Amino acid sequence: MFKQIYKAIKRYDTIVIARHVGVDPDAMASQIALRDSIKLTFPNKNVYAIGTGTNRFSFIGKLDKIEEYSNSLLIVVDTPDKKRIDSARVSDFSYVIKIDHHPFIEKFANIEYIEDTASSAAQIIMELILNTKLLCNKDIAEVLYYGLISDSNRFLFNSCTAKTFSLVSTYLKNYCIDISKVYQNLYLRPFNEVRLEGYIASNMIVTDHGVGYIDITDDIQTKYKVDSAAAGNMINNFNFIQEILVWVTITEDVKNGQIRISIRSRGPEINKVAENHNGGGHKFASGAKVETFEEAHSIVNELDKVCSLYIKDNFLDEEVI
Ligand code: AMP
Repeated sequence: MFKQIYKAIKRYDTIVIARHVGVDPDAMASQIALRDSIKLTFPNKNVYAIGTGTNRFSFIGKLDKIEEYSNSLLIVVDTPDKKRIDSARVSDFSYVIKIDHHPFIEKFANIEYIEDTASSAAQIIMELILNTKLLCNKDIAEVLYYGLISDSNRFLFNSCTAKTFSLVSTYLKNYCIDISKVYQNLYLRPFNEVRLEGYIASNMIVTDHGVGYIDITDDIQTKYKVDSAAAGNMINNFNFIQEILVWVTITEDVKNGQIRISIRSRGPEINKVAENHNGGGHKFASGAKVETFEEAHSIVNELDKVCSLYIKDNFLDEEVI
């Protein structure tokens, strides 16, 4: 299928690359690396990476603005469903390609390359480049590395397979990626975020069956001088806590009038619960947006039931988990 994708890229003079709303480093890295690789390979094509950006990830690269895209190709990365595509309408394009690593939700593209066992969308772009005539350089390789390590939380998950390490090895060898620079850019944070992390650790509530959750209200964000995006992204720092199987941050986003739920798991599958509330994601990393803290807490209750079943099915000791 990589050859088919390459042929479609070759056919179009204007190519728009989009990804999901609520940008994260993997989505942004995938679209920027693919854009830059296509531009390097075909300097005369117009290639745009679009969507709402954030200063937080400006080290990954710059996004583009586009007004005219008649008769063009749309490539959607890291997005399983139409409704979560940021700033592009599928029906406005002549041809559409989806490249994704989420569980399948709906078909919306002419070519759909879905590998839901891949560590990240960036990993798939790495493979696409290696298996076609698309070119790469050190900058593009580093952008792809940002994507892969952020979605795999630095190779923590089972989604990191022999294929992942083999691709990373090839890219490290071919492009001399400066990994300490990459980690500095991705992980350096202001002290107030660390202080908020301390607040979360001290105030997380744990349910009977091991769901840890925390309400990060607007007042708390003001107190710790962080925005809702920074607060919502704290979720990945709470892995490996013996007493919790599933953990949830419930972050008030006053600017957009919504509450963002981020869920992570070290065993029970959580994406069905997120889907029940108009959200989604992966088996062990999901999210949703709700309107009230009440609905957020009902998600916590559902997750508690999922954990209860998981504890029974796996003969776990409830005292320890
Ligand atoms: P987050 O907790 O925001 O980092 O998201 C974790 C995973 O859940 C990512 O794969 C997201 O694409 C997915 N996700 C987050 N929020 C939503 C949502 N409102 N609807 C569908 N999927 C979501």
